[in-house]
Amino acid sequence: MSYPNLKLLIDGKWIDRTDSGTLPVINPADGQVVGHLPVAGRGELDSAAEAARRGFQRWSAMLPFERFRIIAKATELMRQRAKEIAAVLTLEQGKPLAEAVREVTLSADIIDFLAEEAKRMPTRGVPARLENVLSQTVTRVPIGPVAAFTPWNFPANLPSRKLGGALAAGCSVIIKPAEETPATCMLIVQCLVDAGIPEGVVNMVAGDPAFISSSLIEHPNVAKISFTGSVRVGKLLGEQAARHVKRYTAELGGHAPVVVCKDYDGAKAARFSVSAKFRNAGQVCASPIRFIVHRTQYQSFRDELVRSASALKIGSGLEEGVQFGPLIEERRVREMQAFVDDAAERGATIACGGKRIARPGFFFEPTVIEHASLDSRVQNEEPFGPIAVLDVFDDLGDAISRANRLPVGLAAYGFTSDLDCAHRLSAQLEAGMVGINHFGVSQPETPFGGVKESGLGHESGLEGLLGYTDLKLVSVAKS
Ligand code: NAD
Repeated sequence: MSYPNLKLLIDGKWIDRTDSGTLPVINPADGQVVGHLPVAGRGELDSAAEAARRGFQRWSAMLPFERFRIIAKATELMRQRAKEIAAVLTLEQGKPLAEAVREVTLSADIIDFLAEEAKRMPTRGVPARLENVLSQTVTRVPIGPVAAFTPWNFPANLPSRKLGGALAAGCSVIIKPAEETPATCMLIVQCLVDAGIPEGVVNMVAGDPAFISSSLIEHPNVAKISFTGSVRVGKLLGEQAARHVKRYTAELGGHAPVVVCKDYDGAKAARFSVSAKFRNAGQVCASPIRFIVHRTQYQSFRDELVRSASALKIGSGLEEGVQFGPLIEERRVREMQAFVDDAAERGATIACGGKRIARPGFFFEPTVIEHASLDSRVQNEEPFGPIAVLDVFDDLGDAISRANRLPVGLAAYGFTSDLDCAHRLSAQLEAGMVGINHFGVSQPETPFGGVKESGLGHESGLEGLLGYTDLKLVSVAKS
């Protein structure tokens, strides 16, 4: 399995060397260096911003269906190259290969949906109140060059949401993928280049995240910032964007609760939950974390979750049949241990897992924690890893209050076949996305985003396109 030679793309030219050196990229399944990422300095960032300004002039002047043709050609290439891109994704990120293949093809679907929607961009006519006015039209125009920053947990999906929305709307982009997983984004950008996207419309940089984000946010050519990552960094970038009154979309962290009601079979809910919880080793922003289970279903839920978590096949994502891979880096393994130790010190029981796995790479056991006190870290901070926390409830109102007690609200889930409970959960769970009786809330056609500190704006769905547009009123009177 070979890893590509890493490059940055600026103004249509691939660069594999800069004056700022390189960063190593590590395979999390064995800790070995697989590649060296060129670091962008001030010069490269200025060139990218200048290219994006020119790229925007050209791209925004094209008709939406002309842009669609190029984008659709690129997604066709993504599908043709899906296996090759997925193998690189697994090498740098660690998730099982089958998950990586699904991620790449779903990413092509996301981009396709956005480009398709752009051909029928919603506009509206407003009846005039002045007699000589012939028409008042509320149109949508592309915002301008976009600076996009993505994390490492979905190296294809997260860049694709931003590239797809921005390009479909007519914006140019400077994308900075996570330094841990740059090659997947590079291969997707290569598909756009091979499909004939004009020079400067897409640029890719990487290096020191804080330097790159602050340089691009304050650059006069950049009109919009789109960030996916932690609440902490999201707030920082939001402050910088606000200082320059720049448009800002932020997809931030969550701490998703799952309420299992008394009428729903506990073991069945656990069977659904195990793959949602431990997919991508729990490194999913909408991953279920706090399972709040009715007392009558608790034992069967707990036993089935522990049984199936303990039975997951663990290993390198490139091995056949593996269901659970490594965490992204050594620091994350230590973080998981700190979450577990803190909960245990405060009286929790570790029902399964709770330790590093003794093998090369960054592996941590699928872990289920019971009786974690509400002041323990894992009840309050997003572990972003393979840890499930189980709680018991008697009264649905109490369960909903507990589900809503944190300042984040990305996804929330409920399991029930009682219509009243389903309505109550849908109405009262404070989250941007609520899944009742399943976890599939992230689809190309539906808006993905959070409430409270989980973010601003949406990606995917029609809203994922509109976020890259500004409104413009055009009012025409008789001459
Ligand atoms: P992070 O915020 O540390 O990093 C995310 C991205 O921001 C990376 O590309 C990183 O290089 C960059 N970054 C880091 N520090 C920066 C700085 N000072 N200035 C500018 N950029 C900076 O997050 P992480 O721990 O790598 O990723 C996990 C977090 O992302 C979790 O909280 C998770 O919930 C969240 N996330 C949210 C979504 C969503 O769509 N809501 C999706 C995936 C991940």
